Amino acid sequence: MSNIQTIIQSNLDTIHRQMHESAEASGRAQGDITLVAVSKVQPDEKIDAMLACGQRIFGENRVQEAQGRWSARRRQYPDLQLRLIGPLQTNKVKDAIELFDVIETLDRPKLAEKLKAAMEASGEDIPLFIQVNTGEEPQKAGILPSELKSFFEYSRLELGLRIEGLMCIPPVDEPAGLHFGLLKTLADSLALRNISMGMSGDYEKAIRFGATHIRVGSALFGERDYS
Ligand SMILES: *Cc1c(COP(=O)(O)O)cnc(C)c1O
Repeated sequence: MSNIQTIIQSNLDTIHRQMHESAEASGRAQGDITLVAVSKVQPDEKIDAMLACGQRIFGENRVQEAQGRWSARRRQYPDLQLRLIGPLQTNKVKDAIELFDVIETLDRPKLAEKLKAAMEASGEDIPLFIQVNTGEEPQKAGILPSELKSFFEYSRLELGLRIEGLMCIPPVDEPAGLHFGLLKTLADSLALRNISMGMSGDYEKAIRFGATHIRVGSALFGERDYS
């Protein structure tokens, strides 16, 4: 095993152990919680080490970057699952549905309409999560909690999109638990089973609040190097 793979395996073991403990502490089954490895900005050798450790579910936040990283690996690993967790521009919709298995960041009617049209044209029917701006931050993507129900009904009932869950990114300067609790309440109110919340710093808390998908980057791969 390479040195990098040893480190990645150890990080992965740690997260799995914490997932197990948090699930158990809240009376949930570990199998109800999916680990999404957030691979954005990470170097190839770490991605390949993660794959060698058996991880197959990855999150990316930019369409173009993800195409570069995953197009070839996709053919090599047919059981890969790629999830878009960053903002989606309408001019990237076609590329996005070609590459991703799940899009977690549906956040506006215009995007819902574009996705509908593109999927109709390509014959695909990708599961979608609605991103909710639980902190009502002006600079942040996501539908406001007060507008969620009507947006959900529009997307699911009128457009017929496969809405399967909710996703949020809490404000950095507020207790995450408030936002996790709100997202769980909103998901329950719409009878949506899947809840994507929790990152490296707070995934254990997110599991206690009902997360079904945790998005973990730096705790798995190490810090991202933007230099
Ligand atoms: C980068 C990113 C993550 C992972 O963040 P870490 O703190 O590195 O775990 C999770 N979710 C989204 C939407 C991200 O952009």
